[in-house]
Amino acid sequence: LTTADLIEEHRICVCVRSRPMNKKELAMKDLDVITIPNKDVVMVHEPKQKVDLTRYLENQTFRFDYAFDDTTTNDMVYRFTARPLVETIFERGMATCFAYGQTGSGKTHTMGGDFSGKNQDCSKGIYALAARDVFLMLKKPNYKKLDLQVYATFFEIYSGKVFDLLNRKAKLRVLEDGKQQVQVVGLQEREVKGTEDVLKLIEVGNGCRTSGQTSANAHSSRSHAVFQIILRRKGKMHGKFSLIDLAGNERGADTSSADRQTRLEGAEINKSLLALKECIRALGRNKPHTPFRASKLTQVLRDSFIGENSRTCMIATISPGMPSCENTLNTLRYANRVKEF
Ligand code: ADP
Ligand code: MG
Repeated sequence: LTTADLIEEHRICVCVRSRPMNKKELAMKDLDVITIPNKDVVMVHEPKQKVDLTRYLENQTFRFDYAFDDTTTNDMVYRFTARPLVETIFERGMATCFAYGQTGSGKTHTMGGDFSGKNQDCSKGIYALAARDVFLMLKKPNYKKLDLQVYATFFEIYSGKVFDLLNRKAKLRVLEDGKQQVQVVGLQEREVKGTEDVLKLIEVGNGCRTSGQTSANAHSSRSHAVFQIILRRKGKMHGKFSLIDLAGNERGADTSSADRQTRLEGAEINKSLLALKECIRALGRNKPHTPFRASKLTQVLRDSFIGENSRTCMIATISPGMPSCENTLNTLRYANRVKEF
């Protein structure tokens, strides 16, 4: 490997995290089909049947930068994924961290954290852990002298439309100027002075995200949530960290649903996840045909995919139970494709 290869390689980090079997799955005696024998290997043991009806397990092996088993805490996941990217934004770069996976696999637990009180020891997610380290870095002499200010935004992309979670879900327009600079018009950017401020904004945004919905999970599974930490110096952008809780990837399959609204949402999610894969694969390479405009998600994140100093990390979350097997395999194949060149 040459130095260039190494730099190229470290632009994208792809990891997998399996959550533990939950109470319901244990009560139903669901089969756990995942093993993580190594810190970078995931195996799926899919139950199959031969024509003569004898049963067997088909084992499939996937390799990633890291594979986190069901005993891994948010803190550990953070340390190997988003933590290295905090430096990137201090060095004038653009960083992005995505959680990708089916509904119920642990995307929100990983990114936003768990404030239900069920997991007291590791309730903080990557949003809060990254914010904590941003404020720690600010105190280092090298960065202190830059006199940087920290801002946060929190918005949601639902059915190709952008809504501000820090401003009562105001619907926002996305404009692209002649120089292909993308602007979300009127997006609230709040100055934050410490981790506590950030936690408050996360709470406000999450409350806003689910308000007016009969089921919180039904809505969040259909929308992408984007939380950004922005560093500014004398008003000018210095670096930006986008932390994204993507829509459930199984929703992309809703394109054949009987319900028109569900079908449209499914098509939009499908489109955005496909565009996302292509944009990550093209990261920093200035490829002329990168489909930024193919979805609102990639259009809005455009500036994070271009330039020499862009880094990204994807955490593919999976549910270990047998009923999730097909979705799990889809998630692992997608994550694999993101890394392949
Ligand atoms: P998603 O956002 O992908 O739909 P959630 O993050 O809401 O999934 O997780 C679904 C449920 O599983 C939640 O109750 C959450 O607390 C629990 N859960 C997810 N990941 C873990 C984990 N690593 N350890 C313990 N519980 C988890
Ligand atoms: Mg969620």
